[in-house]
Amino acid sequence: MFVLSSPSGAGKSTIANRLLKEERNRIKMSVSYTTRAPRKGEVDGKDYHFVDKETFRAMAEDDQFLEWARVFDERYGTPRDTVFKDLEHGQDILFDIDWQGAQQLFQLAGGDVVRVFILPPGLKTLRQRLEDRNTDTQEVIDRRMDRAQAEVSHWDGYDYVLVNDDLDDCYECVQTILTAERLKRSRQRGMIGFIRRLPEK
Ligand code: 5GP
Repeated sequence: MFVLSSPSGAGKSTIANRLLKEERNRIKMSVSYTTRAPRKGEVDGKDYHFVDKETFRAMAEDDQFLEWARVFDERYGTPRDTVFKDLEHGQDILFDIDWQGAQQLFQLAGGDVVRVFILPPGLKTLRQRLEDRNTDTQEVIDRRMDRAQAEVSHWDGYDYVLVNDDLDDCYECVQTILTAERLKRSRQRGMIGFIRRLPEK
């Protein structure tokens, strides 16, 4: 379980999309449920499953989320069933979730979770990026900025922290982390036949 978190506007979505494209079938995105309205260009079932508050509440009560959190007055949750099915098939999964979700996943699955936090180079750059994106009103941008500062304060809940100064460099670091984590001894055991048969010391 590979978690990418960042304040919005730090470049996380671009990096996630590139990873999914270049890694093809080797890593799959966990598509969350959300009560927020779709932004321009977002596709239901691909970017999120967009549901109303009532449906979300019923799903949460029915324990259908592996984790869920309130972010900017809206609710976001990771569906339990799809994640479990993918994990059973040895599928690596990419999560674009916030620090609350990263924390909850880590509490549930510990060593199976890799948490990466992407920071913008600075708060001024972040505001500029949000404004250039042209998808939110000024009021929403102000709230996102407040939220970004709060989000950054949780940087110590992650295994890796990157600063996205340069998108290509940052992407390369994310890919290197993914490769290194896959090569960890604990993850190799089930994958390589002749190692599997050796006794653990
Ligand atoms: P946005 O509305 O910009 O798509 O997402 C807002 C925040 O919610 C982002 O930080 C994103 O990572 C987080 N988020 C998206 N889906 C989930 C989820 O299923 N669980 C949690 N905890 N956070 C999520």
